[in-house]
Formats: sequence, structure tokens, C-alpha cells
Amino acid sequence: MSDCIFCKIVSRDIPADIIYEDDMVVSFKDLEPQAPVHILIVPKKHIKNLNTAIPEDKDIVSHIMVDVVPELAKKLKIADDGFRLVVNTGVKGGQTVDHLHFHLIGGRSMQWPPG
Ligand code: 5GP
Repeated sequence: MSDCIFCKIVSRDIPADIIYEDDMVVSFKDLEPQAPVHILIVPKKHIKNLNTAIPEDKDIVSHIMVDVVPELAKKLKIADDGFRLVVNTGVKGGQTVDHLHFHLIGGRSMQWPPG
């Protein structure tokens, strides 16, 4: 989508600190990190959020959860201590960028409940 900031990062029209890419996803450092490790994993396909994902997006979502997250957690050395994966969805869910993204956060102890 032409006015989507994450689509522009995927297409390299705006810069980002990209740490991983494959045929389905791009992962880059969050602009405002909330922990020592805070990266975003985004599908290359523009999907607004989990509410609008369709059955054919299952491969992308499961690829992120099953392949990409464990690989990046290992690479970023947060796998053993643990990490948090966050998918803010919709206004009350705290979603500010309308392109599906997974926050992978680690490097410190997390609190519960979240704010
Ligand atoms: P949300 O609030 O939608 O779950 O998360 C959006 C995230 O994207 C925020 O953590 C915010 O810091 C990050 N973000 C917004 N714009 C940019 C950008 O242009 N570049 C990068 N690297 N991160 C961004």
C-alpha cells in the first residue's frame, strides 16, 4: 500500500535497521525500543491486522511464529532467558501502524499485566 510506512520499509523507500529478510517477511529494529532487544517482524504482504488476515495468510503467520521468531530469538541471544511476542490489534489493542507486525521484545524482565 502506497501510504503504509511498513510497506515503504519493505520496499526500501524509507530506511530501517533491517536485521532479517526472507521471501515472506522483513524484520527490523523498532524506532522507539522498549527493551534492550525490540524488533518488528512484518509480512511483506500488506495485511492490516489479525482481524483482516484471511485463510491464505496462515502460511505467513505460522512462518513468523514457528520459524522466524525462534531463529531471531536465538540470533539475538534472548531465547534462553525468554522474550515477549506482542501483536497489538486495533485501536484499543494499541495498534498504531495498520500493517500486521509482531513485536519481539527481550533483554529484560517483563511485567504482567501489560499497560
Ligand atoms: P504498534 O503500536 O502499532 O503495535 O507498533 C508500531 C511500532 O512501530 C512502534 O513500536 C513504533 O515505535 C514503530 N515504528 C513506527 N514507525 C516506525 C518507523 O518508521 N521505523 C521503525 N523502525 N519503527 C517504527
